[in-house]
Amino acid sequence: MIRVTRSPEPPQSLRTTRSYSGKDVRDRLDRDFFGKCYLCEGATGGNFQIDHLRPKESFPDLVQDWANLFPAHGDSCNQRRIQWGKRGVSGPQGRLRNWPEGGLLDCTRDDIEARLLQWFEIAINDIQVHFEPRVASDTPARNTAEELDYIHNDDSKSGARVIRNAIRYQFDIVQRKLNEVMRAHIDGRQDDFIRASAQFKNLVAKKAPYSALIRAAIHEQIPDKLRHWLGFI
Ligand SMILES: [Zn+2]
Repeated sequence: MIRVTRSPEPPQSLRTTRSYSGKDVRDRLDRDFFGKCYLCEGATGGNFQIDHLRPKESFPDLVQDWANLFPAHGDSCNQRRIQWGKRGVSGPQGRLRNWPEGGLLDCTRDDIEARLLQWFEIAINDIQVHFEPRVASDTPARNTAEELDYIHNDDSKSGARVIRNAIRYQFDIVQRKLNEVMRAHIDGRQDDFIRASAQFKNLVAKKAPYSALIRAAIHEQIPDKLRHWLGFI
């Protein structure tokens, strides 16, 4: 999950119609979120559901609230969010509203990268994805970590495996590009170094798929003297 800047002005159809899924809403979500699912950070190709961060069934006043609308893959992500209403830990209010006690992080308002640790480890033919609150007492971050952990790692249905495979595939691309940067740097091929560096920076930019996880995973491989140059400070 990565911090996103939502455009401040709500799309017009939220005001003028009773729909929350007008073309202007979809287009704006697609643009503001870099064409990515807010839950897994995978590209949607424009094929996404409009998720209500606060569920529309229990927060009817927020059904057409621009700040409550997020783009998410359907089966693998939106449909696999935690049913907080069925969990004991949610508290009475949480059970009633299908919303955890303390709430969830909002990637358009909260400093996600500062509050949520996200990384993955490579295993044989798979990866293990981890989410943890940076501070244990940060309840919204802990709830969000739990939800993202479920979406990425629960293998009782196929969605999580699809996400992990896609992260692994993208990571291999980024890894190969970093190797190319390093070779060009060591060989003193300046033109190649500059070109490969620019491509690498695009692959780990905010707009790129899985950038929060991949930046965390590749971070340690970048030598100190190239950190600033490659945008890792
Ligand atoms: Zn997704």
